[in-house]
Amino acid sequence: MANIIYVYRNNVYFNITNRCTCNCIFCIRKENETIGDAKEMWHKHTPSFDEIKMAIEKFDFSPYRSAVFCGYGEPTCAYDNLLETAKYMKQKYPQIQLRLNTNGLGERFLKKPIVEELSKYIDSVSISLNAPNPARYQEVTNPCFDNAFEDMIAFSKKSKLYFKEVKFSVVDVISPEEIEESKKLAEHLGIPLRVRAYT
Ligand code: SF4
Repeated sequence: MANIIYVYRNNVYFNITNRCTCNCIFCIRKENETIGDAKEMWHKHTPSFDEIKMAIEKFDFSPYRSAVFCGYGEPTCAYDNLLETAKYMKQKYPQIQLRLNTNGLGERFLKKPIVEELSKYIDSVSISLNAPNPARYQEVTNPCFDNAFEDMIAFSKKSKLYFKEVKFSVVDVISPEEIEESKKLAEHLGIPLRVRAYT
C-alpha cells in the first residue's frame, strides 16, 4: 500500500488522494515516483478514512509541530476524508498545526462551499497562484475547468476571511516579469506570496 503519511525535509505530510483537477507543467509527479521517506506515492485505491486513521495510529507525531495535507494529488478531491482526518488530528493532537496545500479549485470541483468548514479544523492554507492572469493560469496548470483562475482567486479571498493564515505560491517556471505581476496581484489581495524554485 502507498504511503498515506510521509516525511519530507523534517515535515509530516498526508497523501490522501492522487486525484487532481489540474495537470501543472511543473508537477513533481511527472518527475519523481516518490518523495522524502515515502516508498510509494501512487495509491492503488483512494485510502478510506479507516486506512488513514490506521496510518495516524502507527505514526509517531511526537517530534513534529505541524502536518500538511499535500501529497501526490489535490487533497480537496478527497474532501470527506480531508475533513474527517483534520477533525481527528485536532482531537488527538491539538498541539499540531495543520496546513492545507491546495490548488484552490475545491469549491468549483465539489460545487459547494468548503472554506468555512475546513477552517474549523485546519489552521492555515497555501494556495497555488501559479500565474498572474487567467490565460497563463490555464497554460501553466491545465485545469479541467474553463475560467478556473477566477475560482482560485475567489477561494483565496474567502480563505483570507476564515483561515488563521493564507499564503500564495508560484513556481519559477513562469517568467521573472510574471513573477513580478504575481507579487503585485498577491499584494493587492493582501496575501503573502512564496516563490518556489522548480527542482
Ligand atoms: S495541483 Fe498539485 S498535484 Fe495537481 S497537477 Fe498541480 S502540482 Fe500536481
